Amino acid sequence: MVDVVCIASWNADLVSRVPRPMARGETVLARSFDISPGGKGSNAAVACARQGARTAVVARIGRDDFGRMGLDLWAREGIATEHVEQVEGERSGVAQILVFDDGDNSIAVAPGAGTGLGEAQVHAARATIAGARVVIASNEVPQAATLAAFRIARAAGVTTLLNPAPAAELPDALLALTDLLTPNETELRSLAQLPADAPLAQGAQRLLACGVGAVLATLGAEGCCLWRPGVAPLTIAGWRMEAVVDTIGAGDTFNGALAAALARGLPLEQAMQRANAAAALSVTGQGAIGGMPTAAQVGALLA
Ligand code: ADP
Repeated sequence: MVDVVCIASWNADLVSRVPRPMARGETVLARSFDISPGGKGSNAAVACARQGARTAVVARIGRDDFGRMGLDLWAREGIATEHVEQVEGERSGVAQILVFDDGDNSIAVAPGAGTGLGEAQVHAARATIAGARVVIASNEVPQAATLAAFRIARAAGVTTLLNPAPAAELPDALLALTDLLTPNETELRSLAQLPADAPLAQGAQRLLACGVGAVLATLGAEGCCLWRPGVAPLTIAGWRMEAVVDTIGAGDTFNGALAAALARGLPLEQAMQRANAAAALSVTGQGAIGGMPTAAQVGALLA
């Protein structure tokens, strides 16, 4: 039995620090290189497990070094992997990331084996999904897999949480199966086709009209805002953190901690408080998972 099932993307992040963007055909010496765990789905699963939720991933990886890296990570974090498919002859997902001296970056993601995550694999996890409290997905996994998982969840009364990142068009059928949609500001504007000067509330109302149960937008350092049908919006201010290291994985931490809190049976307002606090703590550590807090750390910040 698990509390949260994550239909998960997995990438090894290959991060090179270089002075500036390169011209076509140019080679430069990188200042440093590192490999770290990534993929929105895997990141959210780690954040969720650190909050104490029994967490499982449904993922597809290659039988290669980067695939083993994912399995090692999930084992260390206590995440169930019985629904991870490791495929001979395919590469695991990688993200090649160039970070420039001014902090900006360029990223090429090759999802590799993750591209093949489909309905059949999700159906094989049917009992686990139907027995959970919350199912999470993002736009980094094939939509057919998310749809299959959300259909199983909806029929079983399991809460569905969709992080629509990176921004992509979502079919009405998927929106109607989504209990909680968690875009950042850019994704909300893009999904709702909202002009730059229109208020976010207008975009949220459009998505609610498509059948989404609630829209919970993350607003970076400003915190987050919740819109539900027929209820006044609820904004929670961001925490002012003293030592911000980087904001990589802040959204993933938000989603994982939110799912864990909902799986514990907390009301949405309280779950949102915990997610906002967990994501704030995450920006004080390095990389996607370096700063992901435990439940005790979130409790201490909120005390
Ligand atoms: P994404 O990383 O997906 O773009 P956001 O930038 O909106 O998402 O960040 C997600 C959440 O992380 C925010 O809702 C907030 O809770 C937290 N957060 C992000 N940046 C900061 C920051 N500088 N200080 C405090 N909290 C932050």
